[in-house]
Amino acid sequence: MSRIVVIGAGAMGLAAAHRAVNLGHEVDLIESDAVAGGMAAHFDFGGLSIERFYHFVCKSDEPTFALMRELGIADRMKWRGTSMGYFMKGKIHPWGDPISLLRFPHLSLIAKFRTGLQMFLTTKARDFSKIEHKTARQWLEQGSGKEVYGTLWKRLMELKFYELADDISASWIATRVRRIGNSRRSIFQEELGYIDGGSQVLVDALVDAYTEKGGRLHLGAAAERIECADGKVAGVRTKERFFPADAVISTLPTPLVSRLVPDLPEASKKKYDDIRNIGVVCLLFKLKKSISRHFWINIVDDTIEIPGLIEFSNLRPVSDTVVYVPYYMPTTNRKWSWTDQQFIDEALGYIKKVNPDVSDNDVIEAKVGRLAYAQPVCEPNFYDKLPPVQTPISGLQIADTSYYYPEDRGIAESVRLGRAMAEAVPK
Ligand SMILES: Cc1cc2nc3c(=O)[nH]c(=O)nc-3n(C[C@H](O)[C@H](O)[C@H](O)COP(=O)(O)OP(=O)(O)OC[C@H]3O[C@@H](n4cnc5c(N)ncnc54)[C@H](O)[C@@H]3O)c2cc1C
Repeated sequence: MSRIVVIGAGAMGLAAAHRAVNLGHEVDLIESDAVAGGMAAHFDFGGLSIERFYHFVCKSDEPTFALMRELGIADRMKWRGTSMGYFMKGKIHPWGDPISLLRFPHLSLIAKFRTGLQMFLTTKARDFSKIEHKTARQWLEQGSGKEVYGTLWKRLMELKFYELADDISASWIATRVRRIGNSRRSIFQEELGYIDGGSQVLVDALVDAYTEKGGRLHLGAAAERIECADGKVAGVRTKERFFPADAVISTLPTPLVSRLVPDLPEASKKKYDDIRNIGVVCLLFKLKKSISRHFWINIVDDTIEIPGLIEFSNLRPVSDTVVYVPYYMPTTNRKWSWTDQQFIDEALGYIKKVNPDVSDNDVIEAKVGRLAYAQPVCEPNFYDKLPPVQTPISGLQIADTSYYYPEDRGIAESVRLGRAMAEAVPK
């Protein structure tokens, strides 16, 4: 059996460490934060334990369901009929089913037909290798038409990726459409899932199962360097100590890799450095009033600089209205240096525009979470740009959320890849 060090106790690192300890390996899991969970971790929001960043589950998230069965918490997965809206020209329009599409007032009939057909065919597609070389914009304009791209997609893409908006892979967008489009009870009813108690329930169950099996979790321990000798991994150094290892699994964001592993060949380091990420400033509001009945509202309005609002309490029942407002952006954007209060003031103004019945007095609490490496930017032919998970250094595996491509970030993918990396370590 091997001595394994796993770096990062987010969903992927936890899944890897848990699988490795179950396979009989000796495992140390090193996490720089004071808590486990990474992007999926909770915080105390005025007495409500909730994710720092919104998390919903889709019907295709099988690796999550299998893990929850293994951990004995399958009954905590709950499903709810949800809906989506588009805020456009001062009004929220229902979206996401054939009737809403037909009634939508801001597209021509032919545009509605083309977008309906493209989305339907996308949910039925097996794989997207044929569009791998295209950008999302090319694929959508060719399939649904320029009118549809201009009306429904352009502003959303620009408010997420800014100057990188035309550099996003078609297969990445198509895979997202398929995942969400197939999470339905019927063609007329979207159905999304949540974990009763939130993602922390899964994080806690993983930590408990891992430590009960003898796995060691080191919180507040930042990996500073992965050390190598004779082309093989030797261990991981933190400020306090050295963890010797036969195998190391790093789940840290790829932009951190070059500094962490100076012994990697220059060509490999360049590949990791070239993977671009955008950040997120994610606001969370607790309100006395609901904004709408929708879980997700896409916003296309020249005076509103956010792509949408997520009324999370329309998915997971909690006592007050809870709304996430994500501001995705490259960290070079001027807004990245805004104070929390600047974001809160602006976002509240937008909420009031979307629903003028909401006033300042309806705000119970607001919090802001930030993450610099929140979303990899997957351009066309992204597969060719990803270095292999197994690095040129024997025993060292490296992956982060960009390795889920063409899938988007998601706990199910973290679990799948984390377990696969643990299984790849020789016994
Ligand atoms: C805004 C947002 C919304 C999302 N929505 C959904 C959703 O609806 N559904 C869904 O399934 N998924 C969603 N996700 C994605 C999901 O959270 C991720 O796929 C998953 O949590 C990633 O896990 P990970 O372990 O790969 O990365 P992370 O969670 O980032 O884990 C990496 C860990 O490494 C630690 N670390 C960093 N540096 C060091 C160091 N030097 N030494 C030791 N440790 C270090 C970090 O603290 C972190 O805990 C969302 C993510 C975000 C950001």
